[in-house]
Parts: sequence; structure tokens; C-alpha cells
Amino acid sequence: MPALILLTLLIALIFLWQASRKQRQAGLPGGRIIYTDTQGWRRVEQPLYDPILGLTGKPDYLIRRGKTIIPVEVKTGRTPPAPYDSHIFQLAAYCALVHRAAGARPPHGLIKYPQRTFEIDYTPALEHALLDLLDEIRQHRRKRTVNRSHESRARCTRCGYRTICDQRL
Ligand code: SF4
Repeated sequence: MPALILLTLLIALIFLWQASRKQRQAGLPGGRIIYTDTQGWRRVEQPLYDPILGLTGKPDYLIRRGKTIIPVEVKTGRTPPAPYDSHIFQLAAYCALVHRAAGARPPHGLIKYPQRTFEIDYTPALEHALLDLLDEIRQHRRKRTVNRSHESRARCTRCGYRTICDQRL
């Protein structure tokens, strides 16, 4: 279990470090602003787990639409004009977990910020970028340290890992 927790933490860190580069490589979907009716959203009590991907996570809500289940991630704080790359990857991971758990591929997921909600297509390109990222994470797990991949002081200032990161700017 500690290894699982470590992997989860590493995923969060590397999502933040690598997301911009991955978006350029994969052309990730930017998301569509949609109106959301939160009726029918079901809170997720237990984390989802994929033993093959070695991935665990808990979306905030699941929505059933016909035969498919859509994951929803709720974010607090400032609403950006477009979803953050790291949030898109986090949602992609939830789509992969839902696919494994439900046996049906979600066509998209939702990221709900306080002022607006974005619908993000779970495209094959996004899935492949996620799988590449997970491979990269596994390689980094073998290293004692993972170096910062950017020179943006602003990014470190906004980062939730700032207090524990010895690579912050
Ligand atoms: S503080 Fe900066 S270097 Fe450290 S994880 Fe956050 S963004 Fe990366």
C-alpha cells in the first residue's frame, strides 16, 4: 500500500511537471463550456483502482448517461479561461479508471470550476498521452530525485507542493 500511495503522489507531481509538454505533443482537447445540471450526480465513496495500470483515484462524482458513466472532477479557486493541463490529465486518469471499472469507455469527462464547467473528450490521443505519462512515471520511480522540468517561478508560486518541494523556484 505505501508503494501505491507513493505512486499516487508521484502521479500528482508529474502531472504538474509534465502536463504542458504533453499537451503540445498530444494536442490535448481544450474542452467545451457546458451548462451543468448537478441533479443525478452521484458522489464517489470508494477509490477506483486499475491493477494493470497501477493507478488509483477517486473522481468527485459519477454521472450515468445511458450505458456510459462520466467522471466529474470539481475544482475550487479561480476559474481559468480553459482547463489546466494537469486537470485534463487527472480527468483522463479517471476516465481510464471508469473504463476499467464499468467496462464501457466514457466518451468524455467533466471538470467543474466554480464559474463554469468544461466537457473534455476522452480521445484516443488523450488516452495515449496518459499511458505515455504513466510509463514516464514508472521510470521516474526508479530515480532518487526527479528534477524540475521548467523555469517558471509563477508556476511554483501557485503549486500545491511548494512547501515540500526542494526544487521550487
Ligand atoms: S514547487 Fe515548482 S518545481 Fe516543485 S512541484 Fe511545484 S511546480 Fe514543480
